[in-house]
Formats: sequence, structure tokens, C-alpha cells
Amino acid sequence: MTYEKTALFRFFGRLKDFLKKNHGLVVHTFCGFQTVKDRIEAIGVPHVEVSLITLRGEPVGFDYLVKDGDHFFVYPEFENVEVPEEWLVTPRYRGEPRFVLDVHLGKLAKLLRILGFDAFFGEEDDEKLCAHAVRRNAILLSRDTGLLKRKELVFGYYVRSTDPREQLLEVVNRYDLKKWMKPFTRCVECNVEFVDVEKEKVKDRVPPRVFSLFDEYVECPSCGRVYWKGTHYEHMLEFIERTILNKK
Ligand SMILES: [Zn+2]
Repeated sequence: MTYEKTALFRFFGRLKDFLKKNHGLVVHTFCGFQTVKDRIEAIGVPHVEVSLITLRGEPVGFDYLVKDGDHFFVYPEFENVEVPEEWLVTPRYRGEPRFVLDVHLGKLAKLLRILGFDAFFGEEDDEKLCAHAVRRNAILLSRDTGLLKRKELVFGYYVRSTDPREQLLEVVNRYDLKKWMKPFTRCVECNVEFVDVEKEKVKDRVPPRVFSLFDEYVECPSCGRVYWKGTHYEHMLEFIERTILNKK
């Protein structure tokens, strides 16, 4: 015979964004044998957002079976706190971040590419999208919590804002992207890194006025578009300095 069990979950920091009431405490009832990961996701928090779970002051893994009366503390990743790696249920992301975005985040993908980040976008099938993220050791960005709960995913982030520029700031802050930024090194359309191209070779491919004003050009090896540091470049540089680097 099955009987109801009750467990308490106290969520901290940005994990509270997923709860209806934002004091962070959830009294959760369930039946049978359930892992702490399943219960956290049943409450609404995707596992990819969870970094550390403790029970009576001790870290537990995602596969811990919840007992009646358990009281968990559930934390997102700490930016500046040293937590032993073996305590974490989701490892810290190491190295230069690369991203996979769901089909609704095309504008964010382009903004990430402008900053030089590998931002794959355009796959509509959820299963293929997640497989791609896992294979490339990439972070899945989405506003679909169901997608972020898929069990094969290791790294993911729920984008809170609906405004592309605010979304960019969120991701910049979440993954400390300032130190990895290489603006204007990647094609916004193709997600491929630029290569330098000699001035003489672009003579017939850019307007004469541009050709007389600029000496340095790059091209996308995929689509063949030629880029130079014109007004568009200046505007984006201004945007980066103003919004991302907080310069006046
Ligand atoms: Zn291109």
C-alpha cells in the first residue's frame, strides 16, 4: 500500500524564480520511491539550474531517494564561493563557454555571435537539440523549462528576460563572459569565425567609398560575406561598452 510522504525544500538565490511564492520554501507531498532530482523538477526547477543540494548539512546527489520528513537546501551555482567539486550535482562549466539555443532565441544567438561566442541555433527538434548540446559540451539556453529538464542535459540556463539585450546581459553575468569576449570575430549569420582577407581581394566586393576608407577586412569562410570596421561596428562597440562593460 502506498502512503503520502512529505519533504521540505528550501530554494536559494535565482532558483526562487521558478516558484510561485518567492520565499523559497516548498512543502512537497509525494508517493512511492522518488529521487531528489525528480522531486525538484516536479516542483518546477530544472536540474541544470541546481548546483548543490544538502540534507542536514551534508551534500546529497541527484539520485538520493527522498524520505518522509527530509528537509533539503537547494542552491544554484555560487559565483564566488569555493565549494568542493565532489559536492556538486552539476559540475562547474570549464573553459570558454559555447552555447546551443532553442528556436525562440535567434536574436540572443546573434548577439552572442557578435561578442565572438559559438552560439548554435536553428535546430527545431528537441531531442536533436539536446544531443547537439551534450556532444559539443555546450550550454543549452532556453525559456522552455520542459526542455531544460531533459535528463541527458548537463549544462543549461533558463533565460529569464524576454528582451534580447537583457537576455544577453543575463548570460554575460551568469557565465562571466566578459573575460572571454572577442567581439567581431565570428559571422553573425553562420556562426563561423572570420578569416583575414587582403584588401586587394575585396575591391569588387565592397562599395568604392568603403574601399577608400578602410584597409582591414575579414571574410566569413562559410557565406563569403566581407566585413570591415564601419559604422555598424562602431555602434555595436558602443553598445558593448555601455551595457556590458558599464562604461559611459
Ligand atoms: Zn557567414
